[in-house]
Amino acid sequence: MTTSVPSIALNNGVTIPQLGFGVFLIPPAETAAAVTEAVEAGYRLIDTAQGYQNEQGVGQAIARSGVPREEIFITTKLVNGRHGYDRALAAFDESLKRLGVDVVDLFLIHWPLPMFDEYVETWRALEKLLANGRVRAIGVSNFEIEHLERLANETDITPAVNQVELHPDFAQGELRAYHESHGILTEAWGPLGQNRGLFDDARVVEMAKKNGRTPAQVVLRWHIQVGNVVIPKSVTPERVRENIDVFDFELNDADMETFAEVDVGRRLGPHPNEFDLV
Ligand code: NAD
Repeated sequence: MTTSVPSIALNNGVTIPQLGFGVFLIPPAETAAAVTEAVEAGYRLIDTAQGYQNEQGVGQAIARSGVPREEIFITTKLVNGRHGYDRALAAFDESLKRLGVDVVDLFLIHWPLPMFDEYVETWRALEKLLANGRVRAIGVSNFEIEHLERLANETDITPAVNQVELHPDFAQGELRAYHESHGILTEAWGPLGQNRGLFDDARVVEMAKKNGRTPAQVVLRWHIQVGNVVIPKSVTPERVRENIDVFDFELNDADMETFAEVDVGRRLGPHPNEFDLV
């Protein structure tokens, strides 16, 4: 049974559902069906990116869903190869066309690519999109504290969100604390640790058993109680439903302490200072 997903206010007052559906690695031809499944299961936040090449499928599913556009929160991200002020603005226009919408709810810089030193200029393009009402909120992804500090020093608007790799064994404590003190919402990608070992951890298995839930559900519940926005991905209908069914139980303090022990700083993806794929 799915009870409704709570919303969180961003630093500009726009609200975002705390749990959404990620579409990374869903093939373009399968995306509309997967998003349709998710919307039927109750998801109202869809997380795509220019780089996933499946924005069109996301837009099609939303258009056909019968759910009013304003009730679905769409996030997309600037692909790495389109950094720079003019390039970012042009790339955004292309996203709108593929999504078939007039406004995107949240537009993120996908990776900082500090070796090219363009993200400050790119951020100014996102500020312009916000000023022109083309997006309801702007944010970043995979930004380290040093990158956020540069934006704070050299630009006008604080990102609403930083979407970063985050799961119980890579809990990002220092970055989360920075976000909290600067009004930036933490959004977790790879929230299930991409199913690469986390569900085999005996402590996670035990907590799942004790709570009468699956390992994925207790992991997602941990995110919710920590205060993260989460965007788990699945193309398996039962899992899509299972992953949103986390609002009618609570982890107790002992469970939260056990999760704190699971955190060993196990990063699965590339370090943002090294990732230079364009
Ligand atoms: P995830 O942690 O959501 O794991 C997804 C995998 O977990 C699935 O492929 C599936 O195999 C498995 N899974 C899902 N539900 C399950 C369940 N209930 N039980 C068992 N296994 C289950 O990883 P992700 O897809 O990398 O991250 C989620 C979303 O975050 C992406 O779809 C994307 O939208 C976003 N993302 C963003 C970035 C970024 O750089 N900003 C990077 C990666 C992902």
